[in-house]
Amino acid sequence: MSIYNCPHCGKKTFNPISKAFAGQLNSHGKPCKECGRLCVNGTAATIFNAAYCIIAFICVILVYLKAPVWYENYQSGFLRQVAEVEILAEIILILSIIFVPRLVNAFFFKLEPAIKKDFKL
Ligand SMILES: [Zn+2]
Repeated sequence: MSIYNCPHCGKKTFNPISKAFAGQLNSHGKPCKECGRLCVNGTAATIFNAAYCIIAFICVILVYLKAPVWYENYQSGFLRQVAEVEILAEIILILSIIFVPRLVNAFFFKLEPAIKKDFKL
């Protein structure tokens, strides 16, 4: 059974794009074209995406804390360039927080029935 099959009726009604936008366990989900019931990316996808966001966010903070020190301490052209690369790294990291979970949802992990779970802490 492919990851693009509906978990309700078992028919292959999803493609990478619709799966990418189906959201995760905490979202409303996307209706299956065949049976109309809602599907989301499952537990594994949700855990992976949460872990990825945390790791990428820690990297953003680390780069942010490090870059100004490099600016102050080194005036040589080479190291200024390195500091500019750090700013580029920040932009790429922030964009990756938005796009990587969608890409991963599109190509990995199974769909699950949408049961909106309320995580109460
Ligand atoms: Zn279905």
